Amino acid sequence: MKERTLSIIKPDCVAAGNSGKVIDILESNGFSIVAMKKIHMTKKQAEGFYIVHKERPFYDSLTTFMSEGPVVVMVLEKENAIKDYRELMGATNPKDAKDGTIRALFATDIERNAVHGSDSKESADFEIGYFFNALEMV
Ligand code: ADP
Ligand code: MG
Repeated sequence: MKERTLSIIKPDCVAAGNSGKVIDILESNGFSIVAMKKIHMTKKQAEGFYIVHKERPFYDSLTTFMSEGPVVVMVLEKENAIKDYRELMGATNPKDAKDGTIRALFATDIERNAVHGSDSKESADFEIGYFFNALEMV
C-alpha cells in the first residue's frame, strides 16, 4: 500500500546549499513529492512540531536550531514510505549512520543532522497535518 511520510530538510542542510541534492536522492529512491514548500518556522512553530520531545534535555536547543533559518518541508509518497525513508535518512547521530544515507552525507552532528522523517503512521498523520491541508497535496 502506498504510504505518506513527512520530510524536512533542516536549516543546516538548506543553508549549506544541499537541499537539491537531498531532493535528487529522494526521487532517485522512488519517493514522489506530493507537497513541498520552503518556510522559516518561528520558535513557537518548531516547539509545536516537536511537542513529543518537550521533556527531553535537547528540546530548547533543537527548537532554536529548527527556527534559525528556512527549511524545506515535503510530503513523500511510496510503498512503505515511512520505514524506507527512515532507512534512507540514516541514524539520528551521523556517526552511526550507514554510508550513503542522507545523514552520513550531509549531517554535522546529532542535532544538526540534515533531515527529519516521521517515525510512525501516527506521527506522519500529525506531522503532515501540521504543515499541509488536503488542497495542498497532489
Ligand atoms: P530522529 O530525528 O532520528 O527521529 P529523535 O526523534 O530522537 O531523532 O530526535 C529529534 C531530533 O532532535 C533529532 O533529529 C536531532 O536533531 C535532535 N536530537 C536528538 N537527540 C539529540 C541529542 N542527544 N542531542 C541534541 N539533539 C538531539
Ligand atoms: Mg523522531
